[in-house]
Order: sequence, then structure tokens, then C-alpha cells
Amino acid sequence: AEDIASNLVALAVQAWGGQGISRSSGLSDDLFVHDGQITKRPARALALSALAPRSGELLWDIGAGSGSISVEWALCGGAAIAIEAREDRAENIRSNAAAFGLGHRITVVAGQAPEALAALGAPDAVFVGGGLDRAMFDAVWSRLAPGARLVAHAVTLETEALLGELHQRPGGELMRVEIAHAAPLGRYRSWEATRPVVQWSTVR
Ligand code: SAH
Repeated sequence: AEDIASNLVALAVQAWGGQGISRSSGLSDDLFVHDGQITKRPARALALSALAPRSGELLWDIGAGSGSISVEWALCGGAAIAIEAREDRAENIRSNAAAFGLGHRITVVAGQAPEALAALGAPDAVFVGGGLDRAMFDAVWSRLAPGARLVAHAVTLETEALLGELHQRPGGELMRVEIAHAAPLGRYRSWEATRPVVQWSTVR
């Protein structure tokens, strides 16, 4: 509890600056405790846009990392179950949920999907930010009610290839984004490219 309290204070002082936080998705990465594995701000905004949260809905955030997707979902009035295989990251999710005052609406499951999904209530939407393979997809898909949304991000060629296949059936929208940031190059500036992210979103 002491950790969480000091965390909260550190966040408030360093990042929020007493000015409150934006209601728009795509909050600064600095507002989250993370180890580098975090869906970065621009990609996160695109994820939330595709997930289309409504108040009272339930999200499964599979491979939740820092929990940033769960936090932004819960800020829109829903509840989230954050499933994360690594215990140290599960701890980060708990800290982030607490720092945002969302501990009551974010449940952390420290475990491996798809096994860890068995006991969970059916979601309105699912985000897969890590570990997607055919078996995971089949397990998740079989748990979705008609109308439930599924959004997956891929950074590796292997996952990207799977999303390319899945997009043929059941369909949906497949999108690739490449973002570059201006960075110093000697006396000038140049575009520094980030890894392309492929997003697949579909409805059961
Ligand atoms: N969306 C997250 C970043 C995800 S990084 C954020 O914004 O912070 C992908 C995460 O998936 C990693 O933390 C990894 O540990 C986790 N992961 C990979 N395979 C998994 C699986 N089968 N079950 C649960 N978590 C998994």
C-alpha cells in the first residue's frame, strides 16, 4: 500500500502536475509504470478507438503488460480483466490501476492465456496485445457472444501473418500504421521510424 501511495504521489507530481488528466484516450506513456513493454500512446489511441468502450462494458485485456489499455478502457466507465503472464508486470498493472483510482474496476489475472480465460465471465470486447496464436484465437473466439468486439495488435511478422489469415475469415478491418517521430540528426532533424503495428479488428 505504501508503494502504491508513493507511486500515486510521484505520478501526480511528475506527470499530472495537478492539472488533472485528459478525457481523451492516448494518455502519455509517462502516466504509467512500465518496463518498456507498453502499447505506446499513438497505437493505444488507435486501440481504444477500435475497442469503442461504452460505460458498463467488460474488457478482456490479454497480455496486458502495464495495463494501460485496461486503464483507458476503465476511464471510459467500463470494467476490465487484465491477463498478464509475468508476475512483475501484473504488479505494475495493480499499481497503475490503483494510481488511477480504478482498482475496483480492473481485475488482474496473473497467468497464461488462453488457460487463464476459462473461469472469466464473457466480455463485450477483447484486446490481444501479446501472445496471439491460432490456439489463443480459437479459445477467445469460442467465448465471444455475437456482437462482441475483438481487436488485436501485431508487431512480429509471425503474428502479422496470422492476422492476415484471420482477416480473410471472419473478416473485419486490417490496418497497418507506421509512425515516425522527428529527432535530431546532427544540426538538423530527421524522421525516426517506430516498428509498424498491424491492427485487426472484427466483430463476432
Ligand atoms: N498492451 C500492453 C503491452 C503488451 S506487451 C500495454 O499497453 O502495456 C505484451 C504482453 O503480453 C507482455 O507483457 C507479455 O508478458 C504478455 N503475454 C504474452 N503471451 C501471453 C499469454 N499467453 N498470456 C498472458 N500474457 C501474455
